[in-house]
Formats: sequence, structure tokens, C-alpha cells
Amino acid sequence: MLLAGALLLLIAVLYFVFWLGPKDLPEPEPESPTAHLEERKARIYEGLRDLQFEFRLGKLSDEDYQRTKLGLQAELAGVMDQIDKLTPKQTQAKGEPAKPEPAKPDPNQCPHCNATFPQPLKFCGECGKPMPEAAS
Ligand SMILES: [Zn+2]
Repeated sequence: MLLAGALLLLIAVLYFVFWLGPKDLPEPEPESPTAHLEERKARIYEGLRDLQFEFRLGKLSDEDYQRTKLGLQAELAGVMDQIDKLTPKQTQAKGEPAKPEPAKPDPNQCPHCNATFPQPLKFCGECGKPMPEAAS
């Protein structure tokens, strides 16, 4: 009786292990941990574009425009920072320190409108055009 119970337990454990096994494999997650941040980032970019659009239409004073823009850019920097922390460093994982290449354009500066930012951005917060990649 005791042996049968132990066997049953063993089978149950084995079944449990094999049943759970495949779930432990690294699967592509349906939603990345940064998805909500990317969404927020996209919304901030959208906000920056809208802001610039309204400013160009004369709906905003220069002061309002600058203040709102700085607020959005600060928020963007915070979101980018969080994404950075959640994203595994792929460029540094290779063991190669990121060397500064003189030929590369400054990823912090927009080549279209020359606006500079405290950190590399995918899209210019000023004109919304794609920025040069920090690392490829
Ligand atoms: Zn720009």
C-alpha cells in the first residue's frame, strides 16, 4: 500500500515535471516587457508632433510651446530610461565596448533640424523625423 502510494507519487511527480517542462523553455513572449513603455513613447512622440503642429499654426505661445515640449521630452527621457533598463544590452553583450566612431553622426543630434537631446532617440522630438541609430 505504501509502495503503491510512493509509485503513484513518483508518477505524479514525473508527469508534473514533463508536463511543465516545455513551459520552462524560453518562448517568444506575446507581449514584451517594454510594450507598454513603447506605447507610451509613441504617444509622447505623437504629442510632440501635435504640439509642434499647433505651434506652427500659431495656436500656442512660444512660452507654452517650449514648456510643454520640455515636459514631454523629460517624460520621454524617463520612458527611454525605463526601456533601457528592461532591454538586455545587445551591443554590450558581445563583450565589445562601444567605441566612438568619428564618422558616425551624433545620435543625440537630429540631422534634419540639428536639435540635440540628452540621449539618443529613434525619432527627433523636434521635427519627428528618424534619428540616426546609436548602434546598429
Ligand atoms: Zn529634427
